[in-house]
Amino acid sequence: MSYMSPSLEKFLDEGLEDLKSKGLYSTIDVLDGANGPLIEINGEEKINLASNNYLGFATHPELIKAANEATEKYGVGAGAVRTINGTLSIHRELEEKLAKFKGTEAAIAFQSGFNCNMGAISAVMNKDDAILSDSLNHASIIDGCRLSRAKIIRVNHSDMKDLEEKAKEAVESGLYKKVMYITDGVFSMDGDVAKMTEIMEIAEKYNLIVYVDDAHGSGVLGGGAGTVKEFGLSHKVDFQMGTLSKALGVVGGYVAGSQKLIDWLKSQARPFLFSTSLTPGASAAVIKAIDLMETDSSYVDRLWENANYFKEELQKIGYDIGHSETPITPVILGDEKVAQEFSRKLIENGVYVKPIVFPTVPLGTGRVRNMPTAAHTKEMLDKAIKVYEKVGKEMNII
Ligand SMILES: *Cc1c(COP(=O)(O)O)cnc(C)c1O
Repeated sequence: MSYMSPSLEKFLDEGLEDLKSKGLYSTIDVLDGANGPLIEINGEEKINLASNNYLGFATHPELIKAANEATEKYGVGAGAVRTINGTLSIHRELEEKLAKFKGTEAAIAFQSGFNCNMGAISAVMNKDDAILSDSLNHASIIDGCRLSRAKIIRVNHSDMKDLEEKAKEAVESGLYKKVMYITDGVFSMDGDVAKMTEIMEIAEKYNLIVYVDDAHGSGVLGGGAGTVKEFGLSHKVDFQMGTLSKALGVVGGYVAGSQKLIDWLKSQARPFLFSTSLTPGASAAVIKAIDLMETDSSYVDRLWENANYFKEELQKIGYDIGHSETPITPVILGDEKVAQEFSRKLIENGVYVKPIVFPTVPLGTGRVRNMPTAAHTKEMLDKAIKVYEKVGKEMNII
């Protein structure tokens, strides 16, 4: 038995009990091997529609080779934080590559996307400022905003009228030195895309700083370069933040922007200053991932082909797949318990998808979320559709 102080034990017992009674405590499945298009859990193979591994890069042989070679050359760890002596030439190469890929002057790499939002927002915004934040923004944006101690003003999801009103009010109040608008580029639960053209019009009118978190847009939109590129706005958006862990298949986060912004973040963003740098292996694998995307459009093409095919087939058999504009494919069921039961049955039948319910999405819009990837074959998708048909009929959903 591990020692626990009585007050901690009381807190944990009550907290865990509360979570379990509300159905908010989830057990974690363990994969026996790699997170590819097929996965093995408890010795059983499943078609994997739950990862963020959009392009199949997490298990790509060329990325693995690049990671191994960099590990041989530089070692497994960077040895220090970036500002002491943990900046290796592979980090500089990665940042140059990211900037070029994003169409910006410079870029800064962090150890994760979450870290990046914690560090970058609070390096620029402070208690004299206000941040307009889309109501469906990612948890790491919410926490990054809180950490900055700026006034946080929630904007209704993708509601441009609400954004304009709140931007006007914030700017005209004279209460704030700077006002930022922060949004996901692609919203991860519905797959809809931020209205970048309208956002930039409003931003220019009210002199807003614009921060786009493109975790789900990079490697997917704009030929892989992301949401901002898709809208032709690479030279206008202040912060193009993203993750190296989703379509790029590895781990890490970044901001791409002006040289001055990146210089500032490199001297002020606390996770950059006080947490050890990305591993050399991860850095090299990301460089290879960008190389592959730049020289071969078939990865992104195949992702979209698979996603479009899968969406069409789900719709044909009668499912509500919402209004996604990207490969993210929700199957909306409504009731939270139904969503959980539906996911359980799909998994039982060999299709691995997770339920997503309140509070991650609004009450009464429970769903399972599918992430078809470039690495799935048509046979895998057809097999998954058959299971969807079977389980949907059994549960009287379709
Ligand atoms: C996943 C995600 C992150 C976090 O990225 P990690 O690299 O996994 O830490 C940040 N923002 C958004 C919108 C995300 O979807």
